[in-house]
Amino acid sequence: MIKGRKSKTQIEQIEERKGSNSMSKFVVAAVKCDTYEPQKVTEALDRLLEHIGGLSAFIKPGQKVLIKPNLLAPCSPETAVTTHPALIQAIAEAVKKQGAIPFIGDSPGGFSVLERIEHLWEITGMKQAADASGATLVNFEKSRFKELELSLEKKKIKILIAACVQEDFEVVINVPKFKTHNLTTATGAIKNMFGVMPGLTKIQFHKLAPKKEALSAFLVALFSQVIPQLNIMDGIIGMEGEGPGSSGTPINTGFLLAADNALAMDIMQASIMGFPLARVPVIVEAIKAGLGPKTMADINIQGDSLAEVQPKKFSWPPGSYTDKIPGFLIPLLNYMARLVRLTNPVVNDELCAKCQICVQSCPVKAINNNKGKIRVDYKECIECFCCIELCPSRAMTIKKSRLLKLAEKKG
Ligand code: SF4
Ligand code: SF4
Repeated sequence: MIKGRKSKTQIEQIEERKGSNSMSKFVVAAVKCDTYEPQKVTEALDRLLEHIGGLSAFIKPGQKVLIKPNLLAPCSPETAVTTHPALIQAIAEAVKKQGAIPFIGDSPGGFSVLERIEHLWEITGMKQAADASGATLVNFEKSRFKELELSLEKKKIKILIAACVQEDFEVVINVPKFKTHNLTTATGAIKNMFGVMPGLTKIQFHKLAPKKEALSAFLVALFSQVIPQLNIMDGIIGMEGEGPGSSGTPINTGFLLAADNALAMDIMQASIMGFPLARVPVIVEAIKAGLGPKTMADINIQGDSLAEVQPKKFSWPPGSYTDKIPGFLIPLLNYMARLVRLTNPVVNDELCAKCQICVQSCPVKAINNNKGKIRVDYKECIECFCCIELCPSRAMTIKKSRLLKLAEKKG
């Protein structure tokens, strides 16, 4: 930075780019909306969709449309862990207005949750959204399963997905939440399609690909086989810090985004958060796979000004190396992470409700209930952070190692 000159915030840079690339096919629309009051959400959604050609550009009358929220864990809407039901309801109503048939479905993350999906639908507000809009809730765990073969570098791997996603619906509307993510820095449109895999099979992939780069490559390979026609991001209340579960911090952000290209949406999200694209491994892998734009400069931004988006700087998730660590130290830390632990999940006994979700969901069985206290066996733990993601009580958090704290200080 030139001395004396104030550097521009990410939002200011995004605003400046508006209109500069109006010929690009990668359109991301943004509209302001600072409330989940149903009428206001419906109005904002209508305006948002106008910027990308209207819903009729994506849906024909009579088609079956899957609306795919982020239903990570059984958390209430104000925690910002899941896509808000007011937005899902508004989308389902808009689908019906087109003469199409709306369905709502996602596979949540945890073992215990799968057994009680109706409880999750209640607590996240999805049941109410479905009842109010006339949409049908779909239980992916009870769907037929279908095998897909993914190409990962030189390997081929077989996975299962809920067959209904590819076979029963003509259109998929992906509705991710604007959130940070401990392992992959930000979650978003591409990662949200991980939910097409039925319950525990998702968790097993954390074991097979524990590092964020390998997991991200897997997520991109999966996404390439289940590309949604439309993406709408819930950024009315987003999440910063230790996302994507209940340990993250809800934050008033006040907007909705829409894009037909999921990578364009994820690049926009990372840019609003102020995270360099190179530090969001899903974006890095998606660019390598040629799934869309490579930078913000390739994106045609339409809609409202986002100048009022707060905060100007989002807190990084502690599981990712934060912005306090300079870029030149990252390769060294990546190397050190193979030799020593940089982060540890820890339990806050006072907040722990002993629900056992973490115990049952840990892919390597590193968590146990020791005489009424939940404890992690660090010799087994692979630092996937699933337990933190899925804990509904904010009881699991990340403790950074001294080495990581030192690296941050040096930055
Ligand atoms: S203890 Fe938590 S972070 Fe460690 S492997 Fe199990 S789920 Fe992953
Ligand atoms: S830490 Fe406690 S509250 Fe959180 S998932 Fe584990 S058992 Fe449940």
